[in-house]
This record gives sequence, C-alpha cells and structure tokens, in this order.
Amino acid sequence: LSLRPQDYIREHIRTVPDWPAAGVQFRDITPLLQNPRVFRVLIDQFVHRYFDMRPDVVAGLDARGFIIGSVLAYELNVGFVPIRKKGKLPFTTVEETYELEYGSATVELHTDAVKPGDRVLLIDDLIATGGTMMAGKRLLEKLGATVIEGAAIVDLPELGGSAKLHAAGLPLYTLVDFE
Ligand code: AMP
Repeated sequence: LSLRPQDYIREHIRTVPDWPAAGVQFRDITPLLQNPRVFRVLIDQFVHRYFDMRPDVVAGLDARGFIIGSVLAYELNVGFVPIRKKGKLPFTTVEETYELEYGSATVELHTDAVKPGDRVLLIDDLIATGGTMMAGKRLLEKLGATVIEGAAIVDLPELGGSAKLHAAGLPLYTLVDFE
C-alpha cells in the first residue's frame, strides 16, 4: 500500500453536496464499507488503537456507529451496545435530549447495557457539532460507566464539535478531517 492508511480511507469517502439540506456537504462512508480492502484497513486502524487500551465495552451511535463499532467489538473480543434514536429500544432505558440546528433529538440506552465502572469506547462515523457524541457520553455516565475515548472516522473541526468534546474531558481519536 503506497498511500498512508488515512489517505486511502479519505479517498473512499464520497462527498455529496447539498444533502440532506442545502449547504450541507454530506460525507458518505458507504464506498469505504463496500471495498473489502479499505474496510479492513479502516477497522485495523481502530483495532491497533484500542487493542492495548482494552475497553470493557464498545458503544456505537445510531446508525453508522453500529457498522464499525460492532466489527471493532468483535475484533477486540468485547461486547457491543447500541445507543439508539428514541423509540427503538424495547427494554427500560435512560435517555438524553440534545439540541440540533432545527429542533432537538433524543437518544436512548438500555439500563443494563453497561455496569458502573465499565470503561467504554464510544464510536460513530463522524463528529460535526459533537452533540450526538456528547449525548452518548452522558448516557453512559448516567449508568456509572466511564468513556475512555470517543472515536470516529471523520472529524469536521470547523464545526467545533471535537474542541467542545475535548473541553468536556473526552479524548478523541479520528482518522480524517474535512473542512
Ligand atoms: P453532530 O451531533 O452534529 O456531531 O453530528 C454527528 C452525527 O450526524 C453523526 O451520527 C453523523 O453520522 C451525522 N452527520 C452530521 N453531519 C454530517 C455530514 N456532514 N456528513 C455525514 N454525516 C453527518
């Protein structure tokens, strides 16, 4: 492989302008998942990062965090727990509501998903304003767990989310930045 892994990954992220709304540059990871070589390179980046840190659990954010988080959990030989948009989880939940540009969103986590003291890796595909990852962190902390790091494929640093999460005490690991 002549490219650095991060550059190989970046080349397989498709930018779709003005989707889902005018002015948004949507960073689409489906080409990356579709190519078995680059998908493996992607997961291996996270496996190398987290093998020695040994999280007790991987928590994935709805919905693209499930795709990479579940494969990573399998490789690390730890369990996977989903943080879902409201109304999808059947058992008792804790919930957290956060503000979006227009309106708000609520995410939920099963009350037995983690135990007090668990060291959790929280993962999603992308960090924009950081609201989703912050809500996930709060949910895990409500159950007494510690989020050891937030991980994502893409950071959009200009939106300020990664800085905000850092200021809130969450270390982050991301592979690719886009303006
Ligand atoms: P935020 O809560 O603002 O950090 O937004 C992050 C969440 O929204 C992630 O679950 C992303 O999948 C999704 N998202 C936000 N902005 C984009 C974008 N420009 N391209 C792709 N996904 C995005």
